[in-house]
Amino acid sequence: MAKRVNPMAVKANATYDVLEAARALNVTPATIRNWIKDGLEAMTSAKPYLILGSAIREYLQERYAAARRPLKDDELFCPSCGKGRKPLNLLVSQSQITIKTDLLKGICQHCGCTATRMISHKQRLVFATTFQISKEPISKA
Ligand SMILES: [Zn+2]
Repeated sequence: MAKRVNPMAVKANATYDVLEAARALNVTPATIRNWIKDGLEAMTSAKPYLILGSAIREYLQERYAAARRPLKDDELFCPSCGKGRKPLNLLVSQSQITIKTDLLKGICQHCGCTATRMISHKQRLVFATTFQISKEPISKA
């Protein structure tokens, strides 16, 4: 997966040329040029091209919003399939990661890889009605 760039690394009301934007966001100048081809708004009437920080922020935020794939209630995210999949037998293990978050883990019924889902600790009771929750780690058969 492509690395995520923090849109807040640029100042909204500053202008950047391609090299400055690349440096601020820790990406290559080629990446910035690709973004411009892809629709990042830039002032291209003169060189060097100038890009508003606010345009960069907007572009990145829209890209990430489009890439977000919501999971259905009975799905975990399988990194191998690259999408939401039902766990085998709807069986998942649950472990608490922080005070507020739990991790569900199951076996992707499509490819057999480990699929996961972060849920809020509060949501665990809702997911317990959908999934068969195991306290034991789930391993591949
Ligand atoms: Zn899978």
